[in-house]
Amino acid sequence: VPFDQLDGFIWFNGEFVKWADAKIHVLTHGLHYASAVFEGERAYGGEIFKLTEHTQRLHESARILGFRIPWSVEEIDDACRQLLAKQGLQDAYVRPIAWRGSEMMGVSAQNNRINLAIAIWDWPSYFDPEQRLKGIRLDIAEYRRPDPRTAPSKSKAAGLYMICTLSKHAAEAKGYTDALMLDWRGRVAEATGANIFFVKDGVLHTPVPDCFLDGITRRTVIELARRRGIEVVERAIQPEEMESFEQCFLCGTAAEVTPVSEIGPYTFQVGEIPRLLMNDYAEEVRPGQRMAAE
Ligand code: PMP
Repeated sequence: VPFDQLDGFIWFNGEFVKWADAKIHVLTHGLHYASAVFEGERAYGGEIFKLTEHTQRLHESARILGFRIPWSVEEIDDACRQLLAKQGLQDAYVRPIAWRGSEMMGVSAQNNRINLAIAIWDWPSYFDPEQRLKGIRLDIAEYRRPDPRTAPSKSKAAGLYMICTLSKHAAEAKGYTDALMLDWRGRVAEATGANIFFVKDGVLHTPVPDCFLDGITRRTVIELARRRGIEVVERAIQPEEMESFEQCFLCGTAAEVTPVSEIGPYTFQVGEIPRLLMNDYAEEVRPGQRMAAE
């Protein structure tokens, strides 16, 4: 079944519409000029993990692109929860998206309506579960994360994903699962939809998110590691340093914690720390288990 023909509902500008009927006009500004921002969230056991943080980031992403979403954070949180229940899902992926509409055509779109839609579906694993256990293989992308003076890199803006899709497709064409993107200075940045961590001598190293998303999962993983007494260093990382790193993993809402076995010419073990954090994250996101642990 094509993805736009699923059963169920989409929350669309305040109403629940049938999944297949949630349509927009071809002259939508968001389509032509990428004036769109979105979120990716996951529900576990009927509860959306860090929902308000995601909704606040959605509002902030829109603000950075110069528009205001005409629903409050609280209203959006409520809509997400209502839709999750209406979809009858416990574990699910949640995708809110806001965009400029089709009332004016042209680069300037001062009077276009700001739209908001939310879709929720069953998306168990971003990376193939079997590959995840062995560690996934990444290519090194040709495109780089842009200088913050070149693009609004702190916004989860649809336009920034153009180079992610290009990089992921290029990696897949070569048999890799994903791509590592360097930043505009040539430093290690992130994967096409997830942040990256390395392990060396029992210490975690991760790039400073100064020109890409400081993921909510990234921050959660840092907290989980510190809770275990694992030191975390946020610093500039040069690609050549990957030679000396022992372990590596990606993290993001969709990817959760996913070990990496290869990045271009560099290889990593699927060692203890990625496995430990994979489990800690899985426990952290489950409301029941989190309460039991407290
Ligand atoms: N970087 C990019 C490019 C992403 O798309 C994502 C997923 N939203 C992340 C990092 C991780 O962010 P989060 O942990 O908030 O999902």
